[in-house]
Amino acid sequence: MMRQYELVERVSGYKKNPDEALLNKAYVYAMRKHGEQTRASGDPYFSHPLEVAAILTELKLDEETIAVALLHDTIEDTDATRKEIDEVFGGKIGRLVEGLTKLKRLDLVSKKAEQAENLRRLLLAISDDIRVLLVKLADRLHNMRTLDHVKVHKRGRIATETMEIYAPLAGRMGMQDLRDELELLAFKYINPQAYATVTGHLEELAEKNRDLIEQISKDLTKRLAKEKITAKVASRQKKPYSVFRKMESKALSFEQLSDIFGFRVIVDTVEDCYRTLGFVHTNWAMVPGRFKDFISTPKQNGYQSIHTTVVGPSRQRAELQIRTLEMHEVAEFGVAAHALYKEGKKRGGQSLSENTAYASLRKTIEQLAEGDNPEEFLEHTKLELFLDQVFCFTPKGRIIALPTGATPIDFAYAVHTDIGNSCVGCKLNGKIMPVITQLQNGDEVDIIRSDAQTPPSAWESVVVTGKARSAIRRASRQAIRTQYAGLGTRILERAFERAGKSFSQESLESALPRLARENAADALADVGKGEITSQDVLKAVFPEFQEERAVQTAPPREDGWFGLRSAAGMVFRIPGSRSKPKVKRVNKSGGTIPIRGVKSDLPVKFSPQGGAVPGDRIVGILEPGQGITIYPIQSSVLAKYDNEPERWLDVRWDIEEDNHERFPARIEVLATNEPGTLATIAEVIANNDGNIQNLVMNVPVEDFTEMGIEIDVWDLSHLTRIIKQLKAKSVTSKVERIID
Ligand code: MN
Repeated sequence: MMRQYELVERVSGYKKNPDEALLNKAYVYAMRKHGEQTRASGDPYFSHPLEVAAILTELKLDEETIAVALLHDTIEDTDATRKEIDEVFGGKIGRLVEGLTKLKRLDLVSKKAEQAENLRRLLLAISDDIRVLLVKLADRLHNMRTLDHVKVHKRGRIATETMEIYAPLAGRMGMQDLRDELELLAFKYINPQAYATVTGHLEELAEKNRDLIEQISKDLTKRLAKEKITAKVASRQKKPYSVFRKMESKALSFEQLSDIFGFRVIVDTVEDCYRTLGFVHTNWAMVPGRFKDFISTPKQNGYQSIHTTVVGPSRQRAELQIRTLEMHEVAEFGVAAHALYKEGKKRGGQSLSENTAYASLRKTIEQLAEGDNPEEFLEHTKLELFLDQVFCFTPKGRIIALPTGATPIDFAYAVHTDIGNSCVGCKLNGKIMPVITQLQNGDEVDIIRSDAQTPPSAWESVVVTGKARSAIRRASRQAIRTQYAGLGTRILERAFERAGKSFSQESLESALPRLARENAADALADVGKGEITSQDVLKAVFPEFQEERAVQTAPPREDGWFGLRSAAGMVFRIPGSRSKPKVKRVNKSGGTIPIRGVKSDLPVKFSPQGGAVPGDRIVGILEPGQGITIYPIQSSVLAKYDNEPERWLDVRWDIEEDNHERFPARIEVLATNEPGTLATIAEVIANNDGNIQNLVMNVPVEDFTEMGIEIDVWDLSHLTRIIKQLKAKSVTSKVERIID
């Protein structure tokens, strides 16, 4: 186990005047806290945080990060508390250790949870403090190195998580070495056979080519020296996992991949990089399409190097990476090295200084996360999650991953199709918000549902997920079809009754060929839409049936009543006197179509010329292809349908107690033309919860103003109340409802 002084020496090796007291204090504190605890291997537990700290010294991280590494398991696994760590080490270190504790707890619960949950936590950790992530990666690396001691059934999950989350994350941060090792270890556990085969092949190959590689290296070094370029040439070991991945993704054999040797040429200056390139290209044949200049155009994660492939002296291909030492360190240590160079060099060799150094790290990570180079990104698709997704919670804490730009509607459908279909509103983080709001990372989404809801088809263009879109399309299509089929059924029941026949599903089925429809549901929907008339169906079911079109419509009578005969033979009587209208119903409730408002389960709209409000006696007129239009029976417009009895439908109101829909009505007011009149009228309407939609004024006589007012009301009694209140005012001389 590394001694206390050894750790301090390591840090002093790359940092002048490190905070030795902090390192010593953290070492002693963690060692004491973990005490007699042991790891699965039987080693003292403290060896683990110490190894994690050691890994981070290789990345040349500052004392605070090293201290956090030493303390990273204390809150979770010992009696140490955040409060105590705050007291001993200060709040900053306390916060970082707590961040790691959170990540660790997550490892423990994540067995069944989706990987995305981990990803999101990681993302949050990144935006909180990059050091938490660096320690976490080192922690994971040490755990992977010692995975043999973990129970067999746990290894697979840990290895897979490492492969899918931690290794790509290290790669994104430019920490190539760390990534390679994580991948290698994970590969070994995930696919032991492939691992053994590939590493075996690679060892054989290295053995076979050792002399050749050595010769090429020496030759190149010597030739470059002649050009006055100091270069360190090293052969590059192929990484078993990347070989395996290429074999898989490009369907290449090992032999096809193994004829290329890799070399890294490290020179002093950028100028030397290009001079080396020029020399190599003039002496050996360059393989087209393989040259890449990441010096003038660095990768998103800051990687800089020149890549080229040439055909070497003995006709074998050689892949060359040409770079300076600084570039090399950035490639190996990623964000850590960035901070080292950017901050350290400017400050005369002084290494990682606190806030500024990490501000720069944060910046780098932000650039990584926001970069738009898709190539780099798609290479490890799992990491798309960082950019393209938002993670939101259900009220019970389940996490739902959605694409960026997703709305609460998408969220509802992601949870369950039924929830999407019944979604009428939402709360975001406890606040009622529009369902089209764009979701943000970490939002808690509570969907408000109603069973009466059918998703509006306009949502189709609002949502971003395919699941939501297709469900909305299906639901609204289905809803419309159901509406029309329901209407069709009622129309047919009525028409058959009038003809003295009884309507049944079976009789309709038998007539389908004559109606040229595939099934009864289609036929019913088409009747509802007005594409087939009820007479057509009658004739199809009863071929001998004679159409009766002679419907008598009584002219207005002298006593002020006039009668309308509906398709079902029902007579409406509209009183001109106080007597109650006598309404003859064909059958009591089953015969009429319930109207629940415009947003009902039927294709309904209201007559624009003085609409009906609940409480009014109403009649429905079937508009081919558009559903039913509802008219108050007083409406004079109805007369024009007198000769089309099959279009008349018996309807009744079926408004629920908790109805939230208002209905438009029109009134005409004759009022005295004096100051304040309009205000008085508006006040009466407002005080009675009426909602003025429109108001037209004209002055017919000098002292009077005539006003046409459109108001939205709940029902007839509401409208009547408003009219009564208006009449009671001294400024009004006439108030009446208008129905055209
Ligand atoms: Mn640990």
